[in-house]
Amino acid sequence: MIIDGKKISQEIKQEVKQATAIFRKERGYAPGLAFILVGENPASQSYVNSKGKACEEIGFHSVTERVPATTTEAEVLAMIDRFNKDERIHGILVQLPLPKHINEQKVIEAIAPAKDVDGFHPMSVGKMMIGLETFLPCTPYGIVELLKRSGIDPSGKHVVVVGRSNIVGKPIANMLVQKKPWANAIVTIAHTAAKDIAAYTKQADILIAAVGVPFAITKEMLKPGVVVIDVGINRIEDAAAKNGSRLVGDVDFEGVKEIASAITPVPGGVGPMTIAMLMVNTLRAAGGRIS
Ligand code: NAP
Repeated sequence: MIIDGKKISQEIKQEVKQATAIFRKERGYAPGLAFILVGENPASQSYVNSKGKACEEIGFHSVTERVPATTTEAEVLAMIDRFNKDERIHGILVQLPLPKHINEQKVIEAIAPAKDVDGFHPMSVGKMMIGLETFLPCTPYGIVELLKRSGIDPSGKHVVVVGRSNIVGKPIANMLVQKKPWANAIVTIAHTAAKDIAAYTKQADILIAAVGVPFAITKEMLKPGVVVIDVGINRIEDAAAKNGSRLVGDVDFEGVKEIASAITPVPGGVGPMTIAMLMVNTLRAAGGRIS
């Protein structure tokens, strides 16, 4: 089975759109999301554009502050403070990475936890860790939703996560180990200190690759029937492609699909889920929810 993240993310956005129409009718205002984009990083610009477009399609109120890379940390903190106090704004997203002179952690911690729709504030992370309801970080939340909506139950399965970043590896491992109906897995996290990474990946019933290295996971490293979730987004050179390059994941899709029972493609797997879950979080921040 190819897990179609594009289709599932569209279904979720449609559900958020319907819930938003009811929300607006009942309350007379729309859920509001503010973006702060510092600098001209092309990938960040493209992410913010896509997120803004999704807000428009769904019927959210959205505001984007695009400021130059020379913007000071104090100026970014002042923007956050303004959005924290703005009643029309329910969620705040500061697009990462930030220029080096700005302390990312300080910026994340300045966002009011009630508006932390990215789920990166230590308050959200702590609540997630102990299983309390909170904003879940969008990419791992998207993985949980992909599994759920594809009928894959992680309960009692051995999930091996390769990668321990704060935005993907650690939170997805944390979420799937929770004693919840959609989780309840036995979880291993592998990383660069593993001398023989395949010794771990071969044990996986569900393998989650968040490595950032093209084709790091090959079929020889997996057991037949494994479910593979590929979080990686890597641009590699390809003379045959239109603009000389193409996007690939962390998994050798062509080889692994022969032995996997289910696998996410790149693009079109985990990627589109991130924006869909941001929309779910924003609706929730405003006090609404999808059923
Ligand atoms: P990251 O911060 O670079 O973390 C990569 C992790 O992989 C690190 O923990 C690193 O270990 C581990 N690692 C690297 N090479 C390894 C190897 N050869 N064997 C075992 N472990 C290895 O990356 P990230 O932010 O988690 O992102 C991972 C990938 O997902 C990237 O391709 C990124 O573009 C993509 N991504 C996609 C989405 C989305 O779909 N929306 C969102 C976020 C990220 P150490 O800790 O030991 O260095």
